This record gives sequence, C-alpha cells and structure tokens, in this order.
Amino acid sequence: MTAIYQSLAEIVGADHISSRAEERYFYARDPGLQPVSEPDYVVAPKTVDEVQGIVRLASAAKIPVVPMGAGLALTGLVIPLRGGIVVDMKRMNAIVEINEKSRYVVVEGGTSQGALKAYLDKNYPRLRHSIPDAPPTATVVGNVVIHGQGRLSQQYGFNSDMVTGLEVVLASGDICRIGSCATSPYWFSKGAPLPDLSGLFLGWLGTTGIITKCGLKLYPKKAMRDVEIFLTDRAELVPDILYELTHTEMVEDINIWFQPKPLLFRGNHHITLYITGDTTEELEFKRKMVWDSLKKFIDTKDGGFMWLLPAIKPGFLDMPAKNITRFADVCKGGGFEYSGPIVPVEKYAVFAKKLEELAQKYEVAYSGTARVIGNSHALMFAFAFTFNRADAAMMERVRAALDEAGEFSLHEGGVPWKPTVDEQQNILREMESNTVALLKKIKKMMDPDGIMNPGNWEVR
Ligand SMILES: Cc1cc2nc3c(=O)[nH]c(=O)nc-3n(C[C@H](O)[C@H](O)[C@H](O)COP(=O)(O)OP(=O)(O)OC[C@H]3O[C@@H](n4cnc5c(N)ncnc54)[C@H](O)[C@@H]3O)c2cc1C
Repeated sequence: MTAIYQSLAEIVGADHISSRAEERYFYARDPGLQPVSEPDYVVAPKTVDEVQGIVRLASAAKIPVVPMGAGLALTGLVIPLRGGIVVDMKRMNAIVEINEKSRYVVVEGGTSQGALKAYLDKNYPRLRHSIPDAPPTATVVGNVVIHGQGRLSQQYGFNSDMVTGLEVVLASGDICRIGSCATSPYWFSKGAPLPDLSGLFLGWLGTTGIITKCGLKLYPKKAMRDVEIFLTDRAELVPDILYELTHTEMVEDINIWFQPKPLLFRGNHHITLYITGDTTEELEFKRKMVWDSLKKFIDTKDGGFMWLLPAIKPGFLDMPAKNITRFADVCKGGGFEYSGPIVPVEKYAVFAKKLEELAQKYEVAYSGTARVIGNSHALMFAFAFTFNRADAAMMERVRAALDEAGEFSLHEGGVPWKPTVDEQQNILREMESNTVALLKKIKKMMDPDGIMNPGNWEVR
C-alpha cells in the first residue's frame, strides 16, 4: 500500500478508495470511442472537506486529479490521460436548498439529473429544470461544465447560462464561492452585478477546479405538455421554419431529427416541437399560433404536420427521451457516439448533407439531431453514429467519421461541443492568437502545476 493510497484512505475512508484492477479498468474508459488510460486511484468523497483534502494531497504530490460525474459525455473527458486520481463525485448527491419564490435550487457537485427531477416532481410540482436527454444518472454539474443543453434551452439558452452560483475547490485546495453567494446567503446570480467569474469554470472541463455546489435556475412547470411534429423533405427550408416557429415565442423546445431507418422516416426532416399550458385554452391557443405560423409551408406543399399515433406519442413526451438511447441498438452491440458542434442555424442543410455523406463514405448507421438553442440563436447539430462494440473495424470507421465531422464543423463556422482532446487542439489551432494567449495565462494561474484533468484544454 503506497503512502498516497494510505493518505487518500484517511481522507475519504477505506471503503471509498480503490486501486484495484477492476476499478482501474472501469474508470479507464467511457462509453465512447476514445483510447483508454488507467487511473492509479479512484476516490468517492462525501464532503467538501474531503474534496479539499484530495486536491491538497494531489497538489503537494503533483498527481493528476480528474473530477467525474457520470462519465457520459462520450468524448473521453473523464478518462485520466496521465493517470492519477479520479474523483467520482456521485456520493455528493444532495439537494442542498430550494428557493421557490426566487426559482433556483442549489445541488451538490455529484447530484444527478434524475434525482433533481424526481425531487422537484414530488415536492415542487410547479417547478422544473432544463433536463438534458442524457441518461438520468448524468450529473447537473457535469452537464453545465460542458455547456450542455436541455428541454428548456430553446427558450433560455445553454444549461450553463442557467447557473446561479458555484462553490469550487481550486487547484490549491482553497474553497471559492462564485456569484451572489460570495457576498450574500442567496444564490440568485452567478455573476451580475459582479464580474462574472463563473467563466473560469464553465466550459473548462474540470481543468480549473472541482465544483462542489451549483445553483441552478428553475422555471415554471405547466400542468399540460404536448408535442407536434412538422415534416419537410427540404432541408434548406428548416432555418425558415425555425424562424417562424421561434417568432411565435410559444414553443417550449424544438428538436429536428432525420434518419434512414425505419423506412417510414426516410427522406424527411422531423421538426418536433413542444407546447405547454396550464389550461386547455392556453395549450390550444399556442397550438393555433404554431400551426398558423407554418401555414405558408403547408400551402406551398413544402411541409405538413404529422399525425402522431396515440401509442407513440408518450415516447416523444418522455424526459429524458429514451428513444435516443435505443438508437445505440440499431446495429446491435450497443455502441453510440455523437459529435455535436454548435452551429449557425442557417447552416442546417449543409450539416445534414455532410452527415449523409459521412455515413455513406464510412458505411455506418447514422441519425441526425439538432436542438434549437436560445430562440434560434444557434443549433447543436449531432452527427450520431451507432456501432457494434465487438467489431473493431466498424469502430474505427465511426471514429474516422466523427473526426471528419469535427474538422468539417470548424471549417463551416461551427464550434465542436464537448470536444475530444484532439478536437480541443483543432479549436485552439483555429483560434485567434491573442485569445489563445489569454487562455494560456488563465490556465497557468488557475492550475500552476497542471494537475487538473491534464491533457484537456492544454495550450501548448
Ligand atoms: C444518450 C445520450 C443522450 C445525451 N443527450 C444530451 C442532451 O440532450 N444534452 C446534453 O447536454 N448532453 C447530452 N448528452 C451528453 C452527456 O451525457 C451530458 O451532457 C451529461 O450531462 C454529462 O454529465 P456527466 O455527469 O456524465 O459528466 P461527465 O462526463 O462525468 O463530465 C463532463 C466534464 O465535466 C467535468 N466534471 C464533472 N463533474 C465535475 C465537477 N464536480 N467539477 C468540475 N468538473 C467536473 C469532467 O471532468 C468532464 O470534463 C447525452 C449523452 C447520451 C449518452
């Protein structure tokens, strides 16, 4: 037993540390396609003090520290590229505080999306958060750290825009509060009217500190929710359709998807839109506004609403949507990964065409999805591929297709989202040099010994 192991065991307790082969194997990988790399230790802290102890130890011994939520980002962001300590945050899963009238919640650094949703559904049925379509074990913090998007992103932007404060353990082991909670008992703002320091942590992929608490905006949850699907076979019209839909300001969430199988879906772009209301009148008013806004596309026979069989409707209303996970089984073997750049809305058709080309070139099964962000300010466009984990050649083809998708996105004015380490370097290559120099200074200041999730956001 090494001295480091012994010290970590004293911090988190002997039951919450491991350096056994089984854990090192498990924590060396994520469900995606990135190369594996084993940690030396895995720890699961329960308190902020324990997180501080781990980071102080790592800092003194100059050992890497990799904070981990559910490890579901799929792009290798929690794979310990240089070994060291994986800090699995799942035991820090409390809902610390709800402020109903100011509509925010404070959760711990490992609280899952599913736990928060279940808590709100049970105790605050008129409140909701912007749940992503990731499996419910995904953590709230892991999601905002990568600038995730969820069911309310069409209206309110990235989920990270909804953060209302952070408590962070810095690379030195010190605790720092970010936002109104730094000067007040209330967690209502991550920045304004102060300088917004949350940008030192959000988007940094755990390379600047470990978030131990996070405030998050909550929103009104209406009593009723319904779904409509508008179809068009003209990809180039999708931005115009989205423009009209978002102009109504009546739609909760909009997802566009297209896929070749089953045949029923082939050739069409499905614009799935959600409306909500507290009364039937409110719901029907919104439905009418939505239908009216798209009338011109129906009149020109460029699109129309699809009748949804009552049997399949609940699947579309699920939160998170389970259909996405089922896509992983299309070619058996359970593999699924997507590259999801954030792209300008007007480029939808260009990205859709590229996805079809990539699928053909690399002979892989695909599905395309796009989520509207912030009233059509941008789209997350997912190049999603499924693969058989027992078929190494197929996995290699999917990897190549994803790499090409990432390069294509940068070339077309998009920015890869939750980028792999290679994509991070590609982004830095394209970035304006003074901006790169600024990132380098910030990273050096926040993590002088380079111990925080090393390999990620490394400015060389
Ligand atoms: C089927 C499927 C559907 C998905 N749909 C969506 C979707 O609709 N929207 C969406 O946004 N994403 C989606 N995702 C992607 C991803 O699963 C989610 O974004 C998820 O919320 C990531 O959370 P996590 O807990 O798995 O984070 P992890 O993968 O564990 O971590 C992500 C990053 O955050 C860092 N990190 C984690 N915890 C901390 C902490 N406490 N402090 C500092 N850094 C930390 C990690 O080091 C890593 O860099 C989907 C994934 C799958 C598999």
